[in-house]
This record gives sequence, structure tokens and C-alpha cells, in this order.
Amino acid sequence: MITHISPGIFILYTVQNGQPRFVGYDEHDIRAKVLKWVGRSYRYFKFDNSESAEAAFHKLCELYHTHKKTLDNTRHPEGSPGSAWRCLLCETFEKKERPGSSGRSLAKD
Ligand SMILES: [Zn+2]
Repeated sequence: MITHISPGIFILYTVQNGQPRFVGYDEHDIRAKVLKWVGRSYRYFKFDNSESAEAAFHKLCELYHTHKKTLDNTRHPEGSPGSAWRCLLCETFEKKERPGSSGRSLAKD
């Protein structure tokens, strides 16, 4: 249970114990964010508190890269507007992937 307001990350699932389908974070109140999301297409969720908004962002990037293939997220997570936060994993991961090999055309926007 979350007992206090805290930044953090969440993972949403459509099937219990299935593949993660959506990941996100909140800089202020992860509990409120999760409650907003859950119950639409995603019936199951997990969340984790982070010690700071920036820590939550980095954790989210990690989740995004790890589960990219099964996620409905169409874009890489973005840091807080005006912040200088950068994903530390992009370089590492992108080097492993073949450039220009993304044949995905499922983006909705
Ligand atoms: Zn990244």
C-alpha cells in the first residue's frame, strides 16, 4: 500500500501476470496517477515509489527499454519540462539495435 504522496513509476497490464503493456511515472503523486489510468484498457497494475522525481524518470526509462516490445507506449519517456534529465540507457540500447530497423507503424499520433 502507498501510505504517503510520493513520486514513482507504474506498470499497467491487460492480463494478470502478463506482459507489461504501459509504463509511466508521476513527479508528485504516483498513487493519483495510477488511479487515473487503471480501469480503462488496463485492469492490472504495479507501482513503485521513488525517492525523487528524477529517480522515477530514470526508472521509467529502464522499464521502457526493457519492455519496449510489448508496450503500447509509442514514445520514449520525457523528463520534466525544463529539466536536463536524460535517459542514461538510450545510448547503450540503441547501439545494440540495428539503425533504421524499426518497421513499426502502429503509432496512433
Ligand atoms: Zn532511453
